[in-house]
Amino acid sequence: MSNTTRSQSISPFILLIEDDKTIIATVKNNLAASGVLRNHLSACQSIKEAIAFLKAHPEFAIILLDISLSDGMGLTGFKKLKTTFSDKIIIAIADDAHKHLGLDFIRAGAQDFMLKEGFDNSPIYPTIQFAVERIQLLQDEVVEKVSRIKQTNQRLYQDIFNKSKDAIYICNLEGRLVDFNQATFELFAFSEEELLEIEVHNLFHTKERKREFLYTLVANQSVTEFPIEIEQKNGKIRRCLISASMIRTPEFTGYSGLLKDITEQQKANDLRKARDVARESAKMKEQFIANISHEMRTPMNAIWGMSNLVMQTNLSKEQHNYISSIKQSSEILLGVVNDILAISEIQNSQLKFDYKFFDLYELLHNLMNVIQFKAEEKALNLSLQMKEGIPKIVHGDKLRLNQILYNLVLNGIKFTERGSVSILVENQNESNDFVQLKFTISDTGIGIPSDKIDAIFETFTLIREQGMEQEGKGLGLPIAKNLVEQQGGKIGVKSELGKGSEFYFDLLFEIGEEVFPEPIQAKAAATLDKGAIRVLLVEDHKMNQLVAIKTLEKHWSDIEITVANDGQEGVAILAEKDFDIILMDIQMPNMNGYEATAYIRHKMSPKKAEIPILAMTAHAHVAKNEKFREYGMDDCILKPRLCKRGKKNPRIFELCN
Ligand code: ADP
Repeated sequence: MSNTTRSQSISPFILLIEDDKTIIATVKNNLAASGVLRNHLSACQSIKEAIAFLKAHPEFAIILLDISLSDGMGLTGFKKLKTTFSDKIIIAIADDAHKHLGLDFIRAGAQDFMLKEGFDNSPIYPTIQFAVERIQLLQDEVVEKVSRIKQTNQRLYQDIFNKSKDAIYICNLEGRLVDFNQATFELFAFSEEELLEIEVHNLFHTKERKREFLYTLVANQSVTEFPIEIEQKNGKIRRCLISASMIRTPEFTGYSGLLKDITEQQKANDLRKARDVARESAKMKEQFIANISHEMRTPMNAIWGMSNLVMQTNLSKEQHNYISSIKQSSEILLGVVNDILAISEIQNSQLKFDYKFFDLYELLHNLMNVIQFKAEEKALNLSLQMKEGIPKIVHGDKLRLNQILYNLVLNGIKFTERGSVSILVENQNESNDFVQLKFTISDTGIGIPSDKIDAIFETFTLIREQGMEQEGKGLGLPIAKNLVEQQGGKIGVKSELGKGSEFYFDLLFEIGEEVFPEPIQAKAAATLDKGAIRVLLVEDHKMNQLVAIKTLEKHWSDIEITVANDGQEGVAILAEKDFDIILMDIQMPNMNGYEATAYIRHKMSPKKAEIPILAMTAHAHVAKNEKFREYGMDDCILKPRLCKRGKKNPRIFELCN
């Protein structure tokens, strides 16, 4: 069918917007004469009226618009029509006086322009016919575009159906499948043919659940994300969510269903939950360990301190040996507690490093002092050798370096029965402000079997050779390794069985020039030559009071100790009496050590506020992170070390000399 033939079969609805009645009549006659119009011409007198009319009569597709209407809207009116009814065809008509405006209307989108004067003699028909053809073309285009969208949508749905990872199917209420996608037989793990033979509802686990699902579906006409388990052909269970909608036609009653397999997702969720629980319990374990260690430290202080005091009284050799065993055991226990605390810190990634300038020489010599007696006990020769170019002041974590060296040197002593243990410090590399130092700890001990050497830095590795008496925890080396590596260094070992071992590590330090003021010493110096030193001991635990008093008196004959049983009492006594130093416990009833210190520092007279205060604590971490300083205390003593074997406690000692 050609466009022309088709357009002739159409009776166009034409709206004439004209306020001149004569013109309306002329147009009517003209169109009637051309045979195009069969009662399909209506007229409006203004744009406003036309808009209302067209809204009510959408079948009017062609508009003849007088461009010089008395409503005065002109081109604006045209544009309004055009934008409101973009699918309509507008033909502008004008009298001779306005024909010069015609072109403006064509430019603005009018299909054509006609002069009213010609309406009397020439037919309007060709112009109208042209408009009709255009409308027809437009309509054809629209129809085609609809059907095209329909086809695309169908393809899209088919594609979604085929490629969906979720099982999509249609079945009757017994579970006989009418249609299903690939994912359906993958989910059920049956072949396509097998699935057509069975009732899929029988694979819904359990029977009660199946009944519940069907009941809800029929009652509500649809079901959304109903949890159900599917038993596959191989008996394995998949956890799914089913969404379904009822289908009822005269020929078929059933439903369309979508099964989403959430087995893996659930597993991931379960794992996440398990991980959260594990993290939570690790946190609790950490807390528990911290608490227990504190609980252990306090009585250990008493055991260690009391046995120390007893040992300095007149004892038979046998008694001395017994007490000495008690004391050594409490020392071992303290070491265990410290190591457990350290490893739990590492495992919970809570390691924090505290970098400051410190005196490396002092650190090494102090370490030698502390460890010397252990070497002497086994008649081993302990030596420290510092090669050239070792800076005195370096920037690093002093406590951690001490901890690494202490662990390695102590192992050396522990696993050596004859010969020596030595520490060697070398400058490996120096550039500008930095120095890389290598520390080597060598011993002439039992050595490590070569097949065990890779394992010794792992947690809880103990190598027990026949006849070897040494017991350990397998924590010292992992602690040292973590402390070195987390500061960017390397740690390693060379060893020969029966000949000895050589542990080494390197660390980078910034070189410093700083001079460290030691306020405690300075303050304490001022108290010299004043006769007896007056100490205020603030401690609630009777046993600890006794240990502290006896220890101080033992090493210092000219001492005057006043005891306060808690912070409140301490503050009250201090207000009445002058002291040279205060030893302050931290955990106490009524007013704890921090509160008492804050009170002394901020509320008391300047003279009292400046008295040096030493914190006494059983909490290792209080000493480690120097928390006590935040509260205005000058220094800290860990309780079990109130007095060192054969030596005066260094800090108390500083005060005394
Ligand atoms: P611990 O010393 O508490 O057992 P470590 O982690 O420090 O734990 O050491 C683990 C194991 O490595 C020790 O039990 C010991 O078998 C071996 N070891 C460590 N240092 C030495 C050494 N200097 N000589 C011989 N064996 C050592």
